[in-house]
Amino acid sequence: MDRLLPFAGEHEMFRRSFGQFLDKEIAPYYEQWEKDGIVPREVFKKFGDQGYLCIWLDEEYGGAGGDFLYNVIQTEEINARGLQNVFIRLHGDVVAPYIAAHGTGEQKKKWLPDIAAGTKILAIAMTEPNAGSDLANLQTKAVKQGDHYVINGSKTFISNGMLADLVLVAVRTDPTAKPYKGISLLLVDTTAAGFSRTKLRKIGMHAQDTAELSFVDCKVPVANLIGEENKGFYYMMEKLQQERLIAAYNGVSMARRSLDLTLRYVKERQLFGKTLGEFQNTQFVLAKAATEIEMGQSFADQLTLRHMAGEKVNKEVSMAKYFCCDMAFRVSTDCLQMFGGYGVCEEYPIAKQFTDTRFLTITAGTSEVQLLIIAKELGL
Ligand SMILES: Cc1cc2nc3c(=O)[nH]c(=O)nc-3n(C[C@H](O)[C@H](O)[C@H](O)COP(=O)(O)OP(=O)(O)OC[C@H]3O[C@@H](n4cnc5c(N)ncnc54)[C@H](O)[C@@H]3O)c2cc1C
Repeated sequence: MDRLLPFAGEHEMFRRSFGQFLDKEIAPYYEQWEKDGIVPREVFKKFGDQGYLCIWLDEEYGGAGGDFLYNVIQTEEINARGLQNVFIRLHGDVVAPYIAAHGTGEQKKKWLPDIAAGTKILAIAMTEPNAGSDLANLQTKAVKQGDHYVINGSKTFISNGMLADLVLVAVRTDPTAKPYKGISLLLVDTTAAGFSRTKLRKIGMHAQDTAELSFVDCKVPVANLIGEENKGFYYMMEKLQQERLIAAYNGVSMARRSLDLTLRYVKERQLFGKTLGEFQNTQFVLAKAATEIEMGQSFADQLTLRHMAGEKVNKEVSMAKYFCCDMAFRVSTDCLQMFGGYGVCEEYPIAKQFTDTRFLTITAGTSEVQLLIIAKELGL
């Protein structure tokens, strides 16, 4: 189907060369990384060497000044190949924008070139054991002592947590203020004393490293405060529009891969003297999936145009995040069913599609949280 998005010649060239890079440098090793439960850190540098991290960033800091369409292309090409657990987009397109938008000139010069080169890996730590959806209630404290903050507390479910060199940590700096008014963002160097991390084991997304972080009297220079003190919650809310739009594209492109794998399978699998694809149930299930994927993509594309024009489309992005991620899980479930027993065997890619899409309705704000945002906008 023709896209609403204005992909130009250079975008299409980028799509081809990025795809070739993934085929040559990433896909052959991916299965081993899934077994290892982590992607080697050199992989980030491989992307950085090709200029594939932070494409949107100004050239003076190592970027290419590209638009959001490059981000869409990267998401689509990575997920089309089932390589979703290489988390370069969290590093480059979710966390780095905080430093670019709110960092001082000195902070940007100090960190962004290494981030764009992939030699310093980023994570963002908002969620705590007792504060996930209820983010404003986070309890990790940072107390200013001279030219340092001293952090105590813990964070959980942190993507890139084991690999990260720098973690953008949401901390409470004013315990007397209203919950969302007393939060700040500190960039913590993971070599700091008092910082430790533990890897979490998950039902899927194996190569994507997820960790629990602990801070015990962890000293961080005041110079690592990103933006103004006590404005952290507002910065996080502001950046959610892009993060959730990327999540919506994850949903669409992962659902599309599930459908593609299944179409190939049902055209070959023989039973009762015909192919599985000749049964009406198969046709209806897959026709519905194809319809929902196109609907999700058109909606996400329309929001991308508005996002790129600088519009505030939080409600609509929540709708897209909710719809596309929920749809991706439904589609992967229906597609897995088409494979019968083979669908639950790990060597069949559809099994990974099923376990990996399960996370989409939880990360970047759960489906229920998106519904709450939409309901609020409806005046409920
Ligand atoms: C693989 C993975 C990677 C992640 N990466 C990161 C990361 O890099 N950085 C980070 O900070 N966090 C990360 N997270 C955390 C993620 O953002 C949280 O898991 C998510 O926000 C939900 O929080 P919670 O797990 O505490 O669940 P809870 O908030 O305890 O929610 C439990 C259930 O209650 C529902 N619920 C909550 N509030 C309401 C309500 N008001 N009404 C109705 N239902 C409600 C939720 O939808 C959910 O179904 C990651 C999580 C996963 C699984």
